[in-house]
Parts: sequence; C-alpha cells; structure tokens
Amino acid sequence: MSIEKEIKDLRSQLHQYNHEYYVLDNASISDYEFDMLLKKLQDLEIKHPEFDDENSPTKRVGGAVTKKFETIVHEHRMYSLDNSYSKDDLLAWEKRIQKVIEEEEVQYACELKYDGASISLTYENGVLSRAVTRGDGFQGDNVTSNIKTIKTVPLKLKGDNISERFDIRGEIVLPFDGFHKMNEERIEAGEEPYANPRNTASGSLKLQDSSEVAKRPLECLLYSLVGKDLPIDTQFQSLEKARDWGFKVPEIAHLANSIEEVLEFVTLWDKKRHELPYETDGVVIKVNDLKQQELLGHTAKAPRWAMAYKFKAEQVATVLNTVDYQVGRTGAITPVANLEPVEIAGTIVKRASLHNADQIAKLDIRIGDEVFVEKGGEIIPKIVGVNVAIRNHDSTPLVYATDCPECGTELVRTEGDAKHYCPNEESCPPQVIGRIEHYISRKAMDIEGLGGETVAQLVNEGLIKDFTDLYPLKVEQLLPLERMAQKSAENLVNGVAASVKIPFEKVLFALGIRFVGETVAKKLAYHFKTIDAIKEADQEILEAVDEIGTKIAESVVEYFSVVSNIERIERLRSYGVLLEIDESQLPKVSSAIFEGQTIVVSGVFEKVSRNELKKLIEENGGKVGSSISSKTSFVVAGDKMGPSKLAKAEKLGIALWDENRFLSEINES
Ligand code: AMP
Ligand code: ZN
Repeated sequence: MSIEKEIKDLRSQLHQYNHEYYVLDNASISDYEFDMLLKKLQDLEIKHPEFDDENSPTKRVGGAVTKKFETIVHEHRMYSLDNSYSKDDLLAWEKRIQKVIEEEEVQYACELKYDGASISLTYENGVLSRAVTRGDGFQGDNVTSNIKTIKTVPLKLKGDNISERFDIRGEIVLPFDGFHKMNEERIEAGEEPYANPRNTASGSLKLQDSSEVAKRPLECLLYSLVGKDLPIDTQFQSLEKARDWGFKVPEIAHLANSIEEVLEFVTLWDKKRHELPYETDGVVIKVNDLKQQELLGHTAKAPRWAMAYKFKAEQVATVLNTVDYQVGRTGAITPVANLEPVEIAGTIVKRASLHNADQIAKLDIRIGDEVFVEKGGEIIPKIVGVNVAIRNHDSTPLVYATDCPECGTELVRTEGDAKHYCPNEESCPPQVIGRIEHYISRKAMDIEGLGGETVAQLVNEGLIKDFTDLYPLKVEQLLPLERMAQKSAENLVNGVAASVKIPFEKVLFALGIRFVGETVAKKLAYHFKTIDAIKEADQEILEAVDEIGTKIAESVVEYFSVVSNIERIERLRSYGVLLEIDESQLPKVSSAIFEGQTIVVSGVFEKVSRNELKKLIEENGGKVGSSISSKTSFVVAGDKMGPSKLAKAEKLGIALWDENRFLSEINES
C-alpha cells in the first residue's frame, strides 16, 4: 500500500471512530487503540509533510495562535429570534402565519433552545472550510482554528449526496459535567470559578491559543442547514440530513401539528430539561415547510417563521435571614445568603451566593428582605432582585463585614479586586486547614490515611500548624485523639512518610501558590528543575517560560518573598521531600556527542521546553541552527512543526528526531 493511501485510510478510520465516540456516544474501539492509531498517523504525517491535510484528525489538539480574529461577512445572514412567553403569544403568532399561508396546513418543528454561543460552519466538498461567530448577524469573527478542536464538529463529512457547499448553524455549549470539572480545577489552583457554562463557552471561542480551547470539553449542537439547492424540503429533514452527514443533532425534536401540541412539548421540556447534560433556555418553534418559510420571510431582525418560547427562569421569592462570610484556602471572602428554605426546580434551596460586596451594594440587599432567587447553570443559586415594595420601613443597608469571621483580622481589599481577603495567612483556621487539605489531596502529595476531618482535628488540637508539621508526627501523639485507633494512627504516619517520594512537580503544586495549578506546576518544575532555581527567578525570567503569564509570575515572586514560605520549604527539605526533578529521569548533560553538528529545533515539546532543548544541544557540544539548510545535521521535531519546515527537511533528506529519541541519545552517551 502506498504511504499516501495508508495516511488517507488512517484519517478516515479516525474520523469514523471520532464520530462514534463523540457524536453517537458509542465507541467501537478502546481509547488505547484509538490513541495508537492517532500516534501512527502523527508519525506518518511528520515523515510525509507532502500529504499534509488541515482537516486531519491530528489537528484536533490545536496549536494555532490568533492575535486578532479576521472579520467575515456572513453569506447568509444570522438572524435573531423573536421571543414569546405565553400561549397567547404563540396563538397570536399562529394567526399572523395563517394570514400568509391561507390554504395549507402548517406543521411546526419544535427543538430545544440550547444556551451557548451561536456558530456558523461552512463546508465545501465535504470538509470544514471555516467557522464564524454570529457577531452582529451580518458579520462575525473567523474562529475556525478554535472550532476545529471541538470533537463533535466533523472535519470531514460522511454519507452521500453531500451538498457541494453549504452552511450549518449551531450552538457551542459547555455541558455541566465538564463545566464543573473545569471549575474544580480552578478552585484547586486558587482561581475564581467561572460563573456559568454559557459565558465560559462563548469566551472559549475567542481564546487566542487554540490548544487552550482543545482542553475545554465543549460541544457543538447543530440545528439547521443553510444554502442553495439543499436536498431538503423541511426543517425536520434538515435535522435528519445533518445527522446523516455526521453532525451532532440532539434527538429531542418534535413535529407538531398544532400550537396545542407545541405547548405540550414546551410543558414537558420545561420540567425534563433539568435532566439534560447541558443548559437550555427555551424551545425554538419553526414552521417546518421550507416553501412556507420562504413565503413568510423575515422582519429586519428575525424570521417570521420561527419563534423562541422562553422558559420562565425558575425564580422564587423567599426571605433573606442572615449573611455569612466564608473564608477560602487563599483567604478570599465569599458572602453567602442564608434563606428561608424554598423549593426551586425540585430541590430545596437554603443558601445563595452573593459573590462580593459590589454585588450586594448593587442589589441593595438587606436582612429581612423578600428576595428573588434563581437557579441557572450556576453551581449554587443566586439572588437576582429584591422586592422593595414590601420592605420594612426601618431596614438599613447591609454593612459588609470588616473583620474576618474566623480569626477577627481586619479584611483587606486591593484595588481592582472584587473580593475582600483575610490577610492572616499564618493563623486564620480555614486558610491553615485549607492549605493542609490541599497539600495532602490526591493530585498533590496524595497522602493516604489522612482526610479533611482529621486535618481539622490535628489543627484544633494544636498538633500541627501547617503541612510541614505532619512529618515529625508520632503514633503516640495521635492515639489520644478522638476516634483514632492504633491502625489509623500508623496509617497516617506511614502515609506521611511515603510522601517524600512524590515527584517535585506535585510537591510544587502542593505548596498551594496562588495561580499555580497542576499544569503550571509541571511547567515550572521541568523548566527550572529545582525549587531553588524557581526561588531565584525574577518576574522577567518567569514570564519567559512558555505559558507563564504576568499574573502567575507575580504570584510566584510574591510567594518566595515571604519568609515563612522559605522556612516551610527548608523544613520540607530537612524531612527529605523532593524539591528537585529526579535526575535519573533527565538527560545527563555535558557530553560531546553533538560535537561539530548543527541542530534545528522546531515545534512544541512535552517533556522539555524549546529553550531547554537548545541548552541541551549546546551543553552536549552541538550548535543550534536557526533554519533548516543543507548544513543541518538533524531536526528535533515536536508537535505542530510547520509544514514548510517539514517539507524542507524532507527535500534535503534531513533526519527528524522526536524529543524521546533526542533525550535517550543524550542519556545513553
Ligand atoms: P436570540 O439570541 O435570543 O436572538 O436567539 C437566537 C439564538 O438562539 C440563535 O442565534 C441560536 O444561537 C440560538 N439557538 C439555540 N438553539 C436553537 C435552535 N434549536 N434553533 C435556532 N436557534 C437556536
Ligand atoms: Zn481570618
């Protein structure tokens, strides 16, 4: 079989498996097998850049960075939808339709209104050619490289009779599961969680680095084909065709013969929508017959043949009893409303987030007020308004807490920060306990035999003040604690002792430096190798590392400027905790194996940064070349090496090494 055919076969197999997994939710091969096939394709593509295809399944990981999105005029305008809120609204709409469509029956296609960001995808000859945001409806932004990373967007269509060129409209959504997972990770890294899935989805489309978009569990739900000479006569066929061609089109859709039937669908889904994995905010009702749609036409803003029926936001009124202030691991204060318990969307709600002082002032919320509570995509419900009409005459504006409810320290609020903070990092209990809990957590030091409750117990009993105090703990000290048996005390001590083997990057994450999440910790650890090197690095040096921005760099510098943090690190060192990368995992430097060779580095790497690679070349006697020429000895090629470079290397017959080969050659020398 020719290489070209092999590559093409692999691509079409992978497109198919991708479709089964993401669109149909029904995989026919294991994840491992999928990864192996993908890897095989990647290798072939690196060796044979002449068969490059921008819609190859390997392009899903992203990598393109867009500084400014190009504006594109929509070939077919992206209209908005008129809204309705009641049966009467719908009946009035039906009357207007009947005036135009006098003789014929009218059927209505009912679909859910997915709450995310609208997108228009253009396909030419069966492959995705571009993706554009709605923008103002006339023109939007070209976000193709970001959209390609979304697995439910087919890069290549399947089935037959595919129209040569058409647009398809849909909504980019972030399902609840993925949204909550993203937020957990942010909270772990000491960052503010995202407010709701919709804004996070639409914000994702405009990220400059498409590999960041690739990490987000976004989905694309499609709802209509647009174009000339399409093989469809109705909206319902539009949905079916799109499904046949490989798009993800939700199965929840109903063809109604009357407005009564439409209302049944609305009533049903107003309840059942809470079982859906993503957010919806209504039902979209469309005249099914495309000829009838054409007769009805558009107003300046919206089609006359479609109507959005908005679900009533689940709002209930209840009384605000008190406001609590919660202190997080980083000292951030979150005000929480204690409400008279009330049922919303099938669950009893007692508390609601108030976010920060500005939010409270904006709503002018007062104790004893009747407030309106809503539950949207947010994790906990929010207060959206106050019933001022029935407010007590003698009520006074709420005075925001001035002191920490846990330790009494005066709260601070730095300019530009929405939140108040308790500055007493050293002895404010929730901060102390929170930091230790973070330290022992699974993704950090993963200390077995120790849980959150025991941590609180140890702190409250005065046995530990921070995570470094865990190391000298003895079984005898633990036994007097409530519910602490010999066995559990031993487990705890052994678990702590075992943690000295945890790799440095996890230790770095475990320290709980603000904005240093798992990924950032890994980057810093591999780049700097030792905690001392990170400590020495200034703002500029830190920012020069891939993916390290100003905010992170500032936070790292700040962390190492605090004496108690340095003391903590020294204590960890004395207990044998790993504060540098395990050298046996890394290439031993300084050999002469690349003596006399000129080596070019291209692409993105997993284990080492580009700068790191260049340093290794020099330390092992080689010279770093800036561009590929006949003098180049070999190229260290990473992910996303540019196609023109690949072609040039190929033409000159220059060998390509991946980073593993490069590192193992150094190690073996
Ligand atoms: P609006 O933003 O209120 O004008 O509503 C129009 C938007 O609803 C469209 O731009 C789509 O992004 C979105 N939408 C969500 N689901 C659907 C659907 N099933 N059919 C049409 N539009 C939808
Ligand atoms: Zn405090």
